[in-house]
Amino acid sequence: MIVPQLPRIFLSPPHMSGREQNYINAAFETNWIAPLGPNVDGFEKELAAYVGVKGAAALSSGTAAIHLALQLLDVQARDRVFCSTLTFVASANPIVYEGAEPIFIDSEPKTWNMSPDALERAFIDAEQEGWLPKAVIVVNLYGQSAKMDELLAICDRYGVPVIEDAAESLGAEYKGKKSGTFGKFGVFSFNGNKIITTSGGGMLVSNDKEALHKARFLATQARDPAPHYQHSEVGYNYRMSNILAGVGRAQLEVLDERVAARRAIFKHYMEAFGEIDGFEFMPELKGTLHNRWLTTLTVDREKLGVSPIELIEALAEENIEARPVWKPLHLQPLFEGTAYYSHGEGRSVSDELFKNGLCLPSGSNMTEEQQQRVIDKVKETVKVKAGSL
Ligand SMILES: *Cc1c(COP(=O)(O)O)cnc(C)c1O
Repeated sequence: MIVPQLPRIFLSPPHMSGREQNYINAAFETNWIAPLGPNVDGFEKELAAYVGVKGAAALSSGTAAIHLALQLLDVQARDRVFCSTLTFVASANPIVYEGAEPIFIDSEPKTWNMSPDALERAFIDAEQEGWLPKAVIVVNLYGQSAKMDELLAICDRYGVPVIEDAAESLGAEYKGKKSGTFGKFGVFSFNGNKIITTSGGGMLVSNDKEALHKARFLATQARDPAPHYQHSEVGYNYRMSNILAGVGRAQLEVLDERVAARRAIFKHYMEAFGEIDGFEFMPELKGTLHNRWLTTLTVDREKLGVSPIELIEALAEENIEARPVWKPLHLQPLFEGTAYYSHGEGRSVSDELFKNGLCLPSGSNMTEEQQQRVIDKVKETVKVKAGSL
């Protein structure tokens, strides 16, 4: 007998508004199909205005934006870059593209983001050895801003610029200011799973308009001003297409609605699981607005009799996609042997979060009924496992 499966619930699927087609049609009607064009210019201006910075450069991905930020900060072979360890590999890969060396910094428990204590120790060691990193990449995980005041104070003291990887935190805030606007450069991603999407794309933002001008130059094969094709530097093909930028403009119009929807889903989960001793949701630091891109929580095996992986497997049986928390980069085979600074001597917060963390489906287009399917399955699994102890 074939058991009919309920429709799949994805972790974070795209959520179109219906207005995207208008911008795409405009691009087709004017034949602005090539990269660049009015949608790209419009998307850059609108996003810069939304987050409150002087300018933005629309690119083919968030990874490309990080890569260009490193280039603009003159990161070269054998330079060192401090980077959050608890993140997607794309935060650190561009360091390797440049032949530079990443040094990973642990999380702290209040934001799950870069630990000021660990960062401070990394700087002290570096200074004693007679070098400084060229840049620090601070990630805002799952839509929660890092402790920016503390982290920036340390970086400023050493005169080292910050790249804010805000790929997951578009629409979030820190002390009333939009996430992604705290460093020398901010990076956003419009990959298919992010809070708004262009199917693929990214944005580099900054208050340094000259640097953004250079970013656009590098992103279009570094072509010198000449009637023929002349090049004095290595460039990239990193610009966003005018069609995809049109999708981005329409998505940006509904960003605040998307943040509200994801926060409502988080609230629903929290209310449903609030009574269960052993679940702990990712905190929202006082004075910040978490966009709740993904609802994440830790699972206490002792109390609940179930591990995150067992919950993920149970949800998969119901055609529901859930995931562990990012595997820290200092634990990745790719980065074996890389230097790492933990939050406390003998305590690695990111290791704990990876071991115990769980990401629940959080798409802004999830129906109440779908949310209930997730909640019911989680509750049932916990009950069965706890009962069988
Ligand atoms: C998605 C993501 C990126 C990369 O963005 P792409 O647009 O997929 O290249 C970088 N950093 C973090 C933290 C991300 O979640």
